[in-house]
Formats: sequence, C-alpha cells, structure tokens
Amino acid sequence: MHLLVVEDETKTGNYLKQGLSEAGFQVSLADNGLDGHHLAMTELFDVIILDVMLPDISGWRILQSLREAHNYTPVLFLSARDSVDDRVKGLELGADDYLIKPFAFSEVLARVRTLIRRGGTQRIEDILKIADLEMDVPKRKVQRAGKRILLSNKEFSLLELLLRHESEVLPRSLISSQIWDMNFDSDTNVIDVAIRRLRGKVDDDFSVKLIHTVRGMGYRLEVDIDEN
Ligand code: CA
Repeated sequence: MHLLVVEDETKTGNYLKQGLSEAGFQVSLADNGLDGHHLAMTELFDVIILDVMLPDISGWRILQSLREAHNYTPVLFLSARDSVDDRVKGLELGADDYLIKPFAFSEVLARVRTLIRRGGTQRIEDILKIADLEMDVPKRKVQRAGKRILLSNKEFSLLELLLRHESEVLPRSLISSQIWDMNFDSDTNVIDVAIRRLRGKVDDDFSVKLIHTVRGMGYRLEVDIDEN
C-alpha cells in the first residue's frame, strides 16, 4: 500500500511518514504543494493525506485537480483550522475524510485503514472479485458463477482494469492509454466495441449486470442494486 503525505510542517510530515512506515505502508512525503501536486497527478497511491494550508498550492487546489482528472484516490484532509466552513468545503470538493490538528497518530492510522477498505481497490491482490465474477490474474482465468469465461488478451486487460477500479468511473481516455497504450480520437468506437464484446461474455447471460456505461464519461464496473 502506497501513501502520499503532503505536509509543509517538517515535524508533522516526518512524524506521519515514520509512523505510517512503521505501520507497514510505503510512504512518499512532499513538503510543499507543487511537489505534492506533481506526485499526486503522476503516480498511483492508495490514499493521499493532504494538509490544507500549504505555502504554494493549497490542499484544496490539489484535491480539485485530482478530481477534475477523474482521479478518485481517497483523500484525507488535515487542517489546523477548525471551522465548519472548511470541513464543508473539503467534503464538497471530494475529500473523503477530514482530520483537525492536533491529532493522535492512532486516529490517522484508523482513518487511513478505513479509506483503504472503503476504496475497495485490490491493486496488490492476485484474485479479483465482484459479485460472482472472479479473476485469477496470474493464472489468466476468469469465471462467473463458477463458469469459465474465455477472454482475449485485450478483453482480459480491460476487465482487470475495471476490476482494480471497482465503482470508479473510468474515462475512455484512461482506458485507451492503459489498455491500448495510445490515445484514440474521442470519436473512435474501439473502446465501445471492446466493451460490447466483454459484456457479451461477462454480462449477457446474467441478470445482474456489472459493466455500466456512464454517459459522456466512460465505464464503471459495479453491482447495480437496482438491477438485482
Ligand atoms: Ca501547513
């Protein structure tokens, strides 16, 4: 599990880095907003801990950039300012949790663990599951309700990407760069065709649909309660 801590106060930053490392996390520490922003936008993290008050780019701004880029990595905000307005602003911008300084380390650890659980991402898992669909990544095997499903390499990669980002909206641009290693024009239907083929194998024979189209945005893998 890889965490990013963006905190300009050296003492707090080092304290968090040391404690979280001892708790078994890999921790990247940025002591200013610019570096934090760059890391957050270019690397994958399981949770980002963001100080609100940074001298260059604020924690608000970093969070805003992330969400605008459809990056839904869980964010825990740290703020010394204990006002309801700040809390509301943070949550409106898409922060997942909020902690007021000073805080006990045990509280940070508990919040981080909750965010990781809630995030539902299984990036380090070899066996990926949703509902009755199961993917064994090393063995390249997929089955649903105990029935083997045969996928092409591209279909397998596409389904793996969706599984590793369960419940997240994956924009077509992200899918094309991750699976086809290139950027398609927005009017191309290569992704839609691949999704249709994948649906035919994964969803068509089952009443509970897992692959959902998010109009104008992309696709999402999720158990839709309404369709149960
Ligand atoms: Ca600060």
